[in-house]
Amino acid sequence: MSNNIFVLLYYKFVDIADPKFETTQHKLVCTGIGLKGRILISEEGINGTVAGHRSELRQYVEYMNAHPSFGGIVFKRTPAGKMPFPKMIVKYRPEIVTLGKKVDMKKTGQYLTPKSMHQLFERGEDMVVVDMRNNYEYEVGRFDGAIQPNTVKFYELPEKIKNLKIDKNKKVVTYCTGGIRCEKATALLAEEGFTDVYQLEGGIVKYLEKYPDGYFIGKNFVFDERMTTNGDSKSGQKVLSKCAHCKKSSDRYIDCAKPDCHQLFICCKECDKKHNGLCPVAVKEKLVL
Ligand SMILES: [Zn+2]
Ligand SMILES: [Zn+2]
Repeated sequence: MSNNIFVLLYYKFVDIADPKFETTQHKLVCTGIGLKGRILISEEGINGTVAGHRSELRQYVEYMNAHPSFGGIVFKRTPAGKMPFPKMIVKYRPEIVTLGKKVDMKKTGQYLTPKSMHQLFERGEDMVVVDMRNNYEYEVGRFDGAIQPNTVKFYELPEKIKNLKIDKNKKVVTYCTGGIRCEKATALLAEEGFTDVYQLEGGIVKYLEKYPDGYFIGKNFVFDERMTTNGDSKSGQKVLSKCAHCKKSSDRYIDCAKPDCHQLFICCKECDKKHNGLCPVAVKEKLVL
């Protein structure tokens, strides 16, 4: 199993005095180890997804644990089979997850472990579950009964949060892929006047680790070449979405083959072949590749 690749997903909110220096440094370390993936570093911390062999990831975790700012991170690990990233990107960004609005991180929601989240579902708790991810993520998999603010980019949330027609005193439970978006989203909810706000700690990834056949139905969208995970579990095999062409049940994402489109869309294998990987808009334009 020596060529088995795993993906680490992680973040930490921590004050970084010189994030641009840290970015340069980090890039050297990661390429030195031989990792691939995407890491963002800013004044507010670090947010990363890196992939590599077991031993390479072990080296990286050791480096991180010894680092004065990045110690103590809880890494979320999922299997990838083959390398899902083309290269190693380490970038400075003003935010490690872009909300585009300053929120008071001391107001972030109370943490729910996957187990407590699961128990809330089991006992039919009176709560509103809000998916803080984007439309295309929600479309192929989500927690049972979850609603969403209808965003295509996370930074639309401050505007779109007004779409959530929820009593501000009701118990609200949010989740996202690995937890980072909820850190800011729940702080935003608090600022909007919501009083009883919780967030799923470690996100869908941590929940699925413990409950692959629990209350998360469908596939977990991921931002690498795997596109989705959880396809092997019973609940993961439930298909919630439809092919954009023929409307048959499908949760297979592809990038539109038209070079200036590249729209991510759901396309069954048959339609992919029939339309040469083009999205419905590109097909309408009768583009011949
Ligand atoms: Zn189709
Ligand atoms: Zn297209």
